[in-house]
Amino acid sequence: MTNILYAGNPAQYDAFKKHLTPLCTAQGITLNWLDMDAPKADVDYILYAPNGPIKDLSDYPNVKLIQSLWAGVEKLLATQTVTTPVARMVETGLTQGMADYVMGHVLRHHLGTDSYSFAKAGDWDETPPPVSSDRTVGILGIGQLGMYCARKLAQFGFPTIGWSRSQKTDDLVECHSGADGLIHVLSQSDILVLLLPDTPDTKHIIDVHSIATMKEGASIINPGRGPLIDDAALLAALDNGKISAATLDVFDVEPLPVDHPYWAHPKVLVTPHIASATRTKSSCETIVQNIARGEAGQPFLHLVDLNAGY
Ligand code: NAP
Repeated sequence: MTNILYAGNPAQYDAFKKHLTPLCTAQGITLNWLDMDAPKADVDYILYAPNGPIKDLSDYPNVKLIQSLWAGVEKLLATQTVTTPVARMVETGLTQGMADYVMGHVLRHHLGTDSYSFAKAGDWDETPPPVSSDRTVGILGIGQLGMYCARKLAQFGFPTIGWSRSQKTDDLVECHSGADGLIHVLSQSDILVLLLPDTPDTKHIIDVHSIATMKEGASIINPGRGPLIDDAALLAALDNGKISAATLDVFDVEPLPVDHPYWAHPKVLVTPHIASATRTKSSCETIVQNIARGEAGQPFLHLVDLNAGY
């Protein structure tokens, strides 16, 4: 019997139990779903999300793995109570949803559809947008989500360049790393997509200095995390035309306060942290793999590097 504690959004408990139990049974693992008031020493695995009931993760002395139900783990790590391995969520539904969001908004920026949505009667400019092969898309953060999106964009026809902490190689995406690589991607991108995690190293990666290196009239799409952007710097760049448009899904404070200037800014589209989300059914395919690995004494997948913070 393998004891599992669900500590995610209570509304999704039944769905996780329904999907994960038979997947584990098929692997010869019998799951025992514990109540929150069960002895903490009994817990083998925790399914965790910040919108669940656990605030202190240090109380579970025998836990083998904290499986995050979210891709971003900054809130989990901010509890400063993690003493056991943590795996972040990597799953096909989350990845596909992010690619849909990124592709949709890249095409929106590329085609300039907002200008037609807000056109006045009689506006009639027959200038067509450039073709995709003439529009470079840069992605800061070519990890699980960023690389998938980058490859989709490249397959569609956009020259696509990416930046990550470690150097990568890819047959479709031009990959960069390091400080020079960041400047290269910033300076070459017509549309810049942010898919970095929220860590001390990535805070305000988009600030007055990085914006200054960007192309005149470039646009920004941020489905990563709010702290990646210095909001004052972006607002100033939108107002002076250096940045032509921004699509923002994530913010320092969520929900975005009603009086925040982003809401009313004519060059900003606010989406309410819906770029993607963990899908219960497909995420259970990932979770069962990690439980099976734990039970077999094998290394877990998608472990968080606690020093790097992601
Ligand atoms: P991931 O696989 O860990 O990828 C993160 C990428 O960022 C990696 O390429 C990593 O480089 C790079 N990176 C991290 N720190 C860096 C630094 N200091 N300098 C340069 N590159 C750095 O994460 P993921 O699964 O793709 O998710 C990315 C983020 O998306 C999450 O952290 C979360 O914040 C966000 N997200 C948002 C939503 C939403 O609905 N808005 C949904 C899911 C996720 P290496 O490859 O070298 O490690």
